[in-house]
Amino acid sequence: MPKVLIVEDEEPLSLLLKYNLEAEGYQVEVCARGDEADLRLRESLPDLLLLDWMLPGLSGIELCRRIRGREETALLPVIMLTARGEESERIRGLSTGADDYVVKPFSVPELMARVRAILRRASPEVVSNLLRSGDIELDRETHRVRRSSKEIHLGPTEFRLLEFLMTSPGRVYSREQLLDGVWGHDVYVDERTVDVHVGRLRKALNRGKAKDPIRTVRGAGYAFNDQFAS
Ligand code: CA
Repeated sequence: MPKVLIVEDEEPLSLLLKYNLEAEGYQVEVCARGDEADLRLRESLPDLLLLDWMLPGLSGIELCRRIRGREETALLPVIMLTARGEESERIRGLSTGADDYVVKPFSVPELMARVRAILRRASPEVVSNLLRSGDIELDRETHRVRRSSKEIHLGPTEFRLLEFLMTSPGRVYSREQLLDGVWGHDVYVDERTVDVHVGRLRKALNRGKAKDPIRTVRGAGYAFNDQFAS
């Protein structure tokens, strides 16, 4: 189980991040002060750090500099959380050694995708490439999907959609959240596009009498139904 340390003094934000990371199976610790985080990192190391820019005690930027300067933490993956409009600050953030940064307010699904991408690169041994639910198996590395051991051929969008839904089984996503998480929030596509791709995904997955793993929630969106196999 990958460990993530969140260093953030805005409690609603750290709670939101904690909730979402735990839902994806991460072990999460939260710290609201930069100096406390510095001490904690000397005791135990997480697999990834989400680090706010402006913190009491010690700024995120200074903490990042210290992390990079110590041998034990030099390679620790760091994603910086910065406020909008701190353009030059962001550049400083990257030059200080952060692996990535997101600008507040950010899309949570997009941040989750970046966390996964960075962890997969930095410590592939802690991130499982295989998602399994019922008789469906998705391999993130080879991009293969199988149902009851039979290979299912999906287009790239349907693959990402299934991956996204399978990451949080049972959780209902609105079309807007799916657009954010699967297409990215910079891309303009109509919400009906989501329905089209969900339709294609269902068609590919549900051959014969196989149960439909995707649940349509009227007025809300879609979810991966983790009960479909039972
Ligand atoms: Ca802050």
